[in-house]
Amino acid sequence: MSIYQIYDDRFRYLTIGPAALEPLATGLRWAEGPVWFDDMQCLLFSDIPNNRMMRWVPGGGASVYREPSGYTNGHTRDRQGRLISCEHGARRVTRTEWDGSLTVLADSHLGKRLNSPNDVVVQSDGSIWFTDPTYGILSHYEGHQAAPEQATRNVYRLDPETGDLRAAADDFGQPNGLAFSPDESVLYVADSAASHDPAAPRHIRAFDVSAGRLSGGRVFCHVDAGIPDGIRIDVKGNLWTSAGDGVHCFAPDGTRLGKILVPEGVANLCFGGPKRNRLFITATTSLYSVYTATEGCQRP
Ligand code: MG
Repeated sequence: MSIYQIYDDRFRYLTIGPAALEPLATGLRWAEGPVWFDDMQCLLFSDIPNNRMMRWVPGGGASVYREPSGYTNGHTRDRQGRLISCEHGARRVTRTEWDGSLTVLADSHLGKRLNSPNDVVVQSDGSIWFTDPTYGILSHYEGHQAAPEQATRNVYRLDPETGDLRAAADDFGQPNGLAFSPDESVLYVADSAASHDPAAPRHIRAFDVSAGRLSGGRVFCHVDAGIPDGIRIDVKGNLWTSAGDGVHCFAPDGTRLGKILVPEGVANLCFGGPKRNRLFITATTSLYSVYTATEGCQRP
């Protein structure tokens, strides 16, 4: 049976018919936050409940990279290539310096602790955008159970030079994955609130971005299986999102193009490999990959 469900012929040109879904690692509890290091030819990702980060190397399998990890979730790299991480444990966003030391970039807003930073993306001007839902403090499983101190679950913009932290959007149930369009005129943000309330959103919103501020916030697409969690954009501006039954792909106009079916619920994904055409998928207990006919958006 094919792993591809095609709703629009355009999807045939984004995928490779014979390309299989390759299991790369398993034995994880909740795999999340994949980030590709082209200069080191490896993938880092989180195994949140096990409080560890993993490193997968082509031909070498997966091994523990950092433990304890502070219950890291989403990762990205900044303009200098440094690792930026969302940590549930200490409820903060950190940067790993080249010497391995950690710099805390944000852990509070308006004098109160953040909820549990979930996912993060860096704009080409160096600003760091992240989401702050409550998943990491709902129980002891993915961090430390605690009452939220923030009144809302926000999307934040951080200027790492000045430390200025601003809530850019505050009208989410549970903001989760986020990604910029190739020209950075649009920021897509998933709302995964349906994880705990079937009547709540399971959609991805599109915000217009201008001078470090967001406006609009229209509903871009709905996910019809599970919830949208991590998202990535390819060079053509197509949006690839995690979902309960695999990875769903939407055109820039919001049309659902197709799905890649994965046997476990998908939490996040990223493009990687030397040609950036390999989709890495963190899916519950396992890491998978599949080659595509497109490439991940790599901003200059
Ligand atoms: Mg997430």
